[in-house]
Amino acid sequence: MAVCEVCGNDYYMSFDVVAAGVKHTFDSFECAIHRMAPTCEHCRCRIVGHGVEADGKFYCCAHCANAAGANGIADHVDHAPHPGHATPVGVG
Ligand SMILES: [Zn+2]
Ligand SMILES: [Zn+2]
Repeated sequence: MAVCEVCGNDYYMSFDVVAAGVKHTFDSFECAIHRMAPTCEHCRCRIVGHGVEADGKFYCCAHCANAAGANGIADHVDHAPHPGHATPVGVG
């Protein structure tokens, strides 16, 4: 039983997320995403999946990373431009 830090809802199925040693409390994944998920530097969507990190910036996919000027980024997922050339998140 805890109060969501985003919407203030006091919900019996609330849960905690620890990020970088800081505990956050939410009543729903929607609120957790609102508070925690990074925003794609290119298309501004919320990054809920693995995403791509390049030059300290976050992108929702390799396409956005490349469109924003990051080089050598490939997705882990099937729609990557060059499947089989996956690059770990954090390269760059
Ligand atoms: Zn909430
Ligand atoms: Zn994007």
